Formats: sequence, structure tokens, C-alpha cells
Amino acid sequence: MKKLGWGFIALLVVTMVAGLYLRQQGKNNMTEKTVFLFDTMCSVRAYGENSEAAVEKVVERLAEIHKKTDFFSDSSDVSRINSADAEIEVEVSQDVAKILMAAEEVRALSDGAFDVSIAPIVSLWNFSGEGRIPSDEELKDSVELVKNGGILIEGNKIKKTKAGTKIDLGGAAKGYAGDVAIELLKNFEVSGAIVDLGGNITAMGENPETDDGKWRIGIQKPFAPTGEYDEIIEIESGAVVTSGTYQRYFEKDGARYHHIIDPQTGEPARRDYSSVTVISDSALYGDCLATACFVLGENEGTRLAENLDAEVVFQE
Ligand code: AMP
Ligand code: MG
Repeated sequence: MKKLGWGFIALLVVTMVAGLYLRQQGKNNMTEKTVFLFDTMCSVRAYGENSEAAVEKVVERLAEIHKKTDFFSDSSDVSRINSADAEIEVEVSQDVAKILMAAEEVRALSDGAFDVSIAPIVSLWNFSGEGRIPSDEELKDSVELVKNGGILIEGNKIKKTKAGTKIDLGGAAKGYAGDVAIELLKNFEVSGAIVDLGGNITAMGENPETDDGKWRIGIQKPFAPTGEYDEIIEIESGAVVTSGTYQRYFEKDGARYHHIIDPQTGEPARRDYSSVTVISDSALYGDCLATACFVLGENEGTRLAENLDAEVVFQE
């Protein structure tokens, strides 16, 4: 009995030391890279032997997805759709087709609260520039266009129903890119990784920086300095995606105008919270959902998220 007891303790000690050693090794093999893509800061951090090659590949792939989805680049798939006439078939990459299919699903389920064909309205507000307040007439016309136009998706062939219809993947592309990054990191067999694409966070494997290996994700306190958190969310893997008014806005005559648009009014969705966080397996759905839930509000938003097996948190 006594002998077995000592043997057991020795085994326990060896296991603990090995665990600590592996954990330290994991920390030592950390690679992190920060790049500016999707009009925001993006960072990829991975642990393990292959982390350097993995992060390199992920950054390359993120740049590729950015190029295909960029609203402002003439050669992107998005621009080719936007400049096409009605009823003309435009062939797009698998990446863009996948984003559009998920976006269409969330559009239908949210009764149009999330709609990538929102671009004509978003352009009027010029959030990427200095910002401007559109006239009532302009808003009315573009709201009509968004309501009555749209896209038809057949595999990777896209058709617009109206020539003026334009799409903007700003509410979904970062989520998709986060999912793609995680798949790549898994293929490289890194021991753990976290990817932050401007508030779209995805993680996999073990976090060697915490005792339990989980990832702790801070929900940014709206309008506070970066790194001041309202809440910490713990996940083992998956996505935590936040849509917030503080992420992009302009101020005119003391009023603040943010970038999450209610397609029914053409104006920034008026809500008494500042951000919405969705916790889900897929960052692509999380991204579409976070924007949709912001527009829908707490009751309908929570119902929609539950419909898609996601959890949603509204922050004041
Ligand atoms: P997010 O940061 O994911 O909430 O996405 C916001 C971005 O999505 C905006 O900057 C617009 O480009 C676009 N957007 C704004 N309102 C909507 C909407 N109701 N549906 C889909 N995309 C939107
Ligand atoms: Mg979004």
C-alpha cells in the first residue's frame, strides 16, 4: 500500500512537471502578428511548434479574403457585383459565395434587419470618410432601393435584381475570415490560437497563459480607452463577436451617428445600448447576428440568436 502510494505520488509529480514543461514550451513557441486589414487592426496569435508558419499563412489568407471583399477596390468580387447591371450573372470566389449564403440566411431570419444590400444607404453617410448626414429625400430613395432590390445566389453565381443594388460585406466578412483563420490554424496543428479581427474574436486549442487553458475575452467598455473591459467572457473555442456604436461613428452638432444602420429607416439604429456581443461556434454567423441583433433590439435579437444556437449579450 505504502509503496503504491509513493509510486502514485512520484507519477503525479512527474506528470505535473511534464505539464508545466509543456506549458512553458507552448508559451516559448508563441508567434503573434498584427496587420491592418478590413479597415481595422487584426492580430493573430498562435502557440506551438508550427506557430510561425501557421501565422504567416493565416495573414496571407486574411489579406486574400480582404481583397475579394473590399468595397473600395475595383477588382474585388464585391465591386464586380456592384458595378454589374441587373440580371447579369457575376461569378464570384468560393469565399464571397459562402459569405453571401450565410448573410442571406440571416437576412431572411431577421426580416431584413441584416442586409448586405445596405450599401447605397451606408455610402450616403460616408462613415469611411468624414461623415455626412443625408437628406430625407436621399434616405427615402435608398431605403426603397434596399427594400425592393436584392441579390440572387446560385452557387457562386450572383445576380442583382436592380442595377442600383450594391452590397457591403462590412458586417460579415471579418467573421468569415475569423473562421477561415481557425481552420488553417487547426490544419497546422498549433496547440492554441486566438485571432482578433477588429472585435471579431475566434480561438482554438489551449491557452497556455491561463491555468485552465481557456481563453478570456474582454468586452470593450464602449467609448472607454482600449483595454477597459465591461465583462470577461470565457470560451474553450469558437467565436465572440462584438458590434458596437463606438467602433465607427462621427459627430455633428453634438449628435453622434454610428455605422449600424436600420434598413427600415436608413438611419443609425436607435438603441439604448452601445454594443452587442454574440458568442457562437461560427464567427461568420456571429458577425451577421451581432449586426442583426443590434438593429432588432433585445427581445427579437435574443430570439434570433437562440434560433441559430448563439448567445447574445447587450451592453449599455
Ligand atoms: P459590424 O461592425 O459587423 O456590426 O458591421 C457594421 C458594418 O456593416 C457597417 O460598417 C456597414 O458596412 C455594414 N452594415 C451597417 N448596417 C448594416 C445592416 N443593417 N445589415 C448589414 N450590414 C450593415
Ligand atoms: Mg457584423
